[in-house]
Amino acid sequence: MSAHNISLSPNAGDNTPRILLIDPSVLMHRLLRTRLQLEHVEILSATSGEEGVQKALELIPDVILLETEFPPEERLDGFEILQRLKEDARTKDISVIFISESRETMDRVRGLDLGAVDFVQKPFEMAELKARVRTALRMQKLLRMLAQCAQRDGLTALWNRSYLDQRLAAEHSEARRHMRNLAVILCDIDHFKSVNDRYGHPFGDEVLAHFATLLAGGRASDVPCRYGGEEFAVILPATTVDEATEVAERFRASFEAHRWRRHPDLVLTASFGVAALSPLQPMLTAAELVKRADDALYQAKRGGRNRVSSKSKPEAA
Ligand code: GH3
Ligand code: MG
Ligand code: MG
Repeated sequence: MSAHNISLSPNAGDNTPRILLIDPSVLMHRLLRTRLQLEHVEILSATSGEEGVQKALELIPDVILLETEFPPEERLDGFEILQRLKEDARTKDISVIFISESRETMDRVRGLDLGAVDFVQKPFEMAELKARVRTALRMQKLLRMLAQCAQRDGLTALWNRSYLDQRLAAEHSEARRHMRNLAVILCDIDHFKSVNDRYGHPFGDEVLAHFATLLAGGRASDVPCRYGGEEFAVILPATTVDEATEVAERFRASFEAHRWRRHPDLVLTASFGVAALSPLQPMLTAAELVKRADDALYQAKRGGRNRVSSKSKPEAA
């Protein structure tokens, strides 16, 4: 297969945009390669619909250039290929630009209605095609950023609750499949309401932001999230309950030790609940795991706050 690295976006290296051309004409592939030689793009090729759908799935390109018309012996035409791409969750967000000799308005309308981002008429000026690909790449980047923002908490920039739920489900099934440990830490700032009441809401926000930076300073594989209000969670893949308890203890100690510039005498604390799955124990569901961490957190609060409690055994109270 022909994936040759050639230059359309300023990002080279790992961010090199990948364009998949699905077109029965070998000439068209040759033309595109020759004309995009100096652009930072990787060109991938498929000459049939089946091959195109397969490569889209395997290689997840950023943009697909798709011919509408295929020879009669081909099972799929361009519109059907697009439909197949849109039906699969893994390929549905790839930007597809139709390139076609068709001058029919209805073809353009049909292509765009099916979800193509653009429709370029053959023969085309290469400068125009490049500009349209650039626009598609820009749109894609913005959409990705938007999707990421929707999963971030605005105040702390940590992952939000909806991301936590998705990610925990994914980590939970990975841990089960590979018989690995998986730990969850839930944290809650102590007497936070009175911090707001005494020092004002803006200072409360500053405290939340600081707490978030502590949680974000852990291992790269850990996933810190704002669970809601002054509650936070960290997912720790491949971590035992004892290791996660040590991590939580470090968070606890550094939060307590922090001196607040505007209130030098103030000491703030937080409570932590830890729970984990281990391959040696009967498997808990993701929801049960969080529930156990929450129970442990409740224990830490009841035990006097500013402490870490853990639950490792499924049958423990
Ligand atoms: P406990 O030790 O039992 O956890 O007591 P607490 O006061 O921390 O708990 P409580 O749940 O009663 O209060 C949580 C407070 O967190 C109340 C709410 O006003 C505050 N809070 C929630 N979200 C934010 C936020 O985004 N900014 C600020 N400044 N405060 C927030
Ligand atoms: Mg709370
Ligand atoms: Mg609290």
